[in-house]
Amino acid sequence: MRFKLPQNPNIDDLLSILKKRGVSSVDVERIKRAYLKADECHKGQIRKTGEAYIMHPLATAYYLVELGMDYASIVAGLLHDTIEDTDYKIENLEKDFGSEVASLVEGVTRLGGVKYFGKKGKAEDLRKLLLIMAKDLRVIVVKLTDRLHNMQTVYALPSLKRKKIAKETIEIYAPLASRLGMGEMKGILEDLSFKYYLPNEYKKTLLLLGKDQDSRDVYVSEVVSQIKEKLKREKIKAQIEGRAKHLYSLYKKLERHNNDISKIYDLEAIRIIVGSISDCYKVLGIVHKEWKPLLKRIKDYIAIPKPNGYRSLHTTVFALEGKIIEIQIKTQEMHEEAEWGIAAHWHYKEIKKSKEVPEKLRWINKLLSWQKELGASEFMEGFKSDVFQDRIFVFTPKGEAIDLPEGATPVDFAYAIHTQIGNSCIGAKVNGKIVPLSYDLKNGSLIEIITSKKQLGPSRDWIRFVKTPTALHEIRKWLRGQDKDKNLDIGRDLLNKELKKIGKTVDKISRKDLDFYKAKNTYGDLDSILVAIGEGFLKPKRVLSDLYFSENNIKPKSGIFDKILPIFNKNNRKEPKIIVEGEQNMLLSIASCCSPKPYTPIKGYITRGKGISIHVSSCPNIVNKKDNRVLNALWENPDIYEVSLYIEAENNSDILKKITDILSKMLIEARNINLKKNNISKVTLDIEFAKPNQLKEIVESISDIPEVILVKKLK
Ligand code: MN
Repeated sequence: MRFKLPQNPNIDDLLSILKKRGVSSVDVERIKRAYLKADECHKGQIRKTGEAYIMHPLATAYYLVELGMDYASIVAGLLHDTIEDTDYKIENLEKDFGSEVASLVEGVTRLGGVKYFGKKGKAEDLRKLLLIMAKDLRVIVVKLTDRLHNMQTVYALPSLKRKKIAKETIEIYAPLASRLGMGEMKGILEDLSFKYYLPNEYKKTLLLLGKDQDSRDVYVSEVVSQIKEKLKREKIKAQIEGRAKHLYSLYKKLERHNNDISKIYDLEAIRIIVGSISDCYKVLGIVHKEWKPLLKRIKDYIAIPKPNGYRSLHTTVFALEGKIIEIQIKTQEMHEEAEWGIAAHWHYKEIKKSKEVPEKLRWINKLLSWQKELGASEFMEGFKSDVFQDRIFVFTPKGEAIDLPEGATPVDFAYAIHTQIGNSCIGAKVNGKIVPLSYDLKNGSLIEIITSKKQLGPSRDWIRFVKTPTALHEIRKWLRGQDKDKNLDIGRDLLNKELKKIGKTVDKISRKDLDFYKAKNTYGDLDSILVAIGEGFLKPKRVLSDLYFSENNIKPKSGIFDKILPIFNKNNRKEPKIIVEGEQNMLLSIASCCSPKPYTPIKGYITRGKGISIHVSSCPNIVNKKDNRVLNALWENPDIYEVSLYIEAENNSDILKKITDILSKMLIEARNINLKKNNISKVTLDIEFAKPNQLKEIVESISDIPEVILVKKLK
């Protein structure tokens, strides 16, 4: 499967593929009707590539057919852009093609509305994404094929937009495809994005790879023909092919190996597809008899599949001339599963069409059911660890495999097995050795949990280091079940400890500060804040920064304009840079009708022959213009904030270095640094930063330095 369109993609060819596959003539007819409808809706629309718009939904449908998706998904693929981009109404679509198709198209449309959230994104957007996914996973499959074709034609877009879409594809859609078991889709999406996402690294990788490509090709085909011969002698039917590694995954791997390409053993792999599982092992035996394997690289993913369900035998052998090559052995079924992943779930071969989420993907539902309980940032973490993080497999003493995110601890493991084991956990052994409960578990380890009969319950400290939403959820549930008064006392102690750092106590929190806090958070009064801290729902550090370091407490500094790079000099006056949507190389000028001052809201207007003129957003000359010549525009770096910090720390010769290291890591410039030493070190410094909420992070990071006793904002 390669996700490439034929020379002349057209609906008749597509329909004949479906007919050959045994799709009923009623369904074929309806798919044709959907195509005609889409064609009618998009009539006259042209893509940036210059092609008629209908080629895009048609390509999407081609790929859905290639994935073996069902009738409703193919129809939804054909119609996926009609609601958003044409006058066709969802009610009419439902009338014409039924509610199943309508709800798929609606899902795809809504998914397109979930804005790019990057790594620091908003939990709310993730929630939306999950909700849409959980309702019907086919929405994601349709969206992925849509994105695939968009990436194949992304060259036609302006470069800024290209980069943004590539980034989104690599950070969101490729990991989603991977988590849904669609390995080939992931690889292709990443490779298509790589060029635009990291252009220099892309070129470097190509160069590294290109050097010996020809001799590698010759070598692979030599090994393939030798294997073919051997299997023929043993009367094993097999399909054997050489398979080049995807470029982006090669780049990631090279990064881990200091760009030493000789350390990459699976640069080229040979894939052997056979008829049965027992043939897989037979072939492995034949290969090992001929060529010595690298001991640590024999992997039996048939007996123990990867967390995303991937099954296959992998081995790396010293083949001809003692050169190393990877060999993958699998059945046709395993091969299809790996390529199609979740898509196989709706495959034609499977008569039962269930909408139910398969076992492997239950995490979506679990995560959703917790979203109400987890705070926004924890929800985000849970989502990231479940979707975007690599997974590890660890084992119970009985040999049962448990799937956890990388960085998971024995406590996560305990809760993954059973709540009761988590709640009574007092220690852990990894491969026979006692380890701390916060220990970072490694793939393949054998874990034994030591429990106590005394029902001690989980420790509040565990909240700091657990990685899975399951563990977090259960620990909090237990803490909540504790006595309310006790939690209130604990909360007061914890918050007092934190407030001490800035010379305050719980009793000294002013009415005004508290009202301000309450306006932004859901807690009604001080007691409920303290109880929430005691129950582990609120972090004392968080309360402290919301109370005293939030954006409303600081004001942008004036007179900063001259610090920003000028882009155009009008009357020799330095002006801050303006960014206009989608455009980069057009001449910019300030409109004389309204001459916007820096940092007032602005829009750009494409003039005839004179580039883009910048107007105040409300300028009457552009406000009523309905044409698409009005563009969004922004002043870059609208605010720079300056704050002086006062820090007290235990005496340590390195304290200044520690502080400035942290600041420079956060790309924060520090000036006017002063150090006075008596029995303690007192540091003052000025910092500048662009986003008001950055101050919280800065203060938290500095107070995380072990010697630091107090961090205070001076002005
Ligand atoms: Mn589309």
